[in-house]
Amino acid sequence: MNIILLGPPGAGKGTQAQRLQQERGLVQLSTGDMLRAARSSGSELGGRVAAFMDSGSLVSDEVVISLIEEQLEKNPKVAGFIFDGFPRTTPQAKALDESLAHSGQKVDVVIRLKVDEQALIDRITRRFEAEGRADDNPEAFKKRLVAYNSQTAPLVEVYSGQGKLREIDGMADMEAVSASIARILDATLAEKSK
Ligand code: AMP
Repeated sequence: MNIILLGPPGAGKGTQAQRLQQERGLVQLSTGDMLRAARSSGSELGGRVAAFMDSGSLVSDEVVISLIEEQLEKNPKVAGFIFDGFPRTTPQAKALDESLAHSGQKVDVVIRLKVDEQALIDRITRRFEAEGRADDNPEAFKKRLVAYNSQTAPLVEVYSGQGKLREIDGMADMEAVSASIARILDATLAEKSK
């Protein structure tokens, strides 16, 4: 079962994806984590994307699509993937459908974490103070929100049109969010096995 967690930066996608990985044996694919790993390894790719990330802009579709394709090829026999922070643009969504189709798979469900932007800004300001991620600084974070609203939010319509979109309250506490996701996944599994 392949799941997309959709929502603005700071909505809690990473935390929920990690839980699903542990509880359901699915593989989390976070392009943000992959890009951060490339940076800390000092690779050429890491160097190329650093300025985009720190300023809060998206890196190119080409770069993230090839990172995802590499991971799909490396994990041919898993129970499914949780896409966290990918796709973020319409071309990325199209590329994902095509890559999954190569192995007879598809996106089964897209879970949108709905959040209040001001509360998010407060949440990320706290994360910036605790963890010091450069792109969590208030200016870069606002740019990430703008990028989300202009480039990623249109995917809501795309997946809703495909009948795959489910929406939950991302501002609820972590346990309640996990419980909502679990209900959606159980229903999706039941539907799949019909
Ligand atoms: P994240 O941790 O998912 O918020 O990602 C951190 C940063 O990595 C983003 O602000 C972008 O600069 C870059 N990034 C991560 N995923 C993508 C993606 N799917 N498309 C473009 N840029 C991305």
